[in-house]
Amino acid sequence: MTEETKTRKEFNLLPSQKEELATKNSDNLKIGIFGGTFNPVHFGHLRTAEEVHEKLGLNLVLFVPASRPPHKNSSRIVPFIHRWKMLELALADNSHFTLSDIENRRPGKSYSIDTLRHLRKIYPKPNSLYFLLGIDAFQEITTWKDYKKLFELTSFVILARPGYNIRGTYDLLRSKISGYYEYDEENNLFSHPSLEAVHFCQVTLLDISSTRIRKLVSGGQSIRYLVPDSVKEYIEKTHIYQG
Ligand code: ATP
Repeated sequence: MTEETKTRKEFNLLPSQKEELATKNSDNLKIGIFGGTFNPVHFGHLRTAEEVHEKLGLNLVLFVPASRPPHKNSSRIVPFIHRWKMLELALADNSHFTLSDIENRRPGKSYSIDTLRHLRKIYPKPNSLYFLLGIDAFQEITTWKDYKKLFELTSFVILARPGYNIRGTYDLLRSKISGYYEYDEENNLFSHPSLEAVHFCQVTLLDISSTRIRKLVSGGQSIRYLVPDSVKEYIEKTHIYQG
């Protein structure tokens, strides 16, 4: 089975995405992985994924909603099916974004290390996986299961968020992961002799969070222009964030 066939099978890609992938050389596939709770997905997620796709020349960005996120208070998280449906609506018109239910198919907590090990089997080549995460989430990386191993399996792409700076990232990398990381200013990445590079992406700073959206909805305020209209309508129809 070719890698592209495996990709299509694994992620049920749309016809346009299949065509796009079929024309690429599978040896050079670059897959973005955007994990998160997406409770709900918002324009902060979508715009940053779009910018990273363009800046790093990714073939595809795979959104991977966590089924049971280990780091979040589960009582505030709406069921997976709602988060999945909102993502489907939000990603529908973008041929280089797609969705994976890989974390919902696994029992137990949704650990990124398990997802990355799984994807690494499909894409064994170095420099083919790019794991997107906000700088806020990256600061907590040492609390993740097997966090050192993650740096062997994927390149990280750290997304700028308001109120955070890159200095802390460099210190954290060198003190907690490896002292051999070097900052490459020209390419805005941290290179390493044996681990994958850690990219820093100065994306448009959008001070939008799912927490704020949930608060606005429960307070009866507008969320227009913070989420796609289709997502706003889904939230209104299902009342998932009311009360
Ligand atoms: P919550 O407010 O519920 O904690 P969130 O808005 O941070 O949620 P998540 O689903 O937890 O959204 O985020 C998934 C990933 O997207 C994380 O790595 C997070 O840092 C990143 N992210 C979320 N919002 C933004 C944003 N506005 N700009 C850049 N990255 C973001």
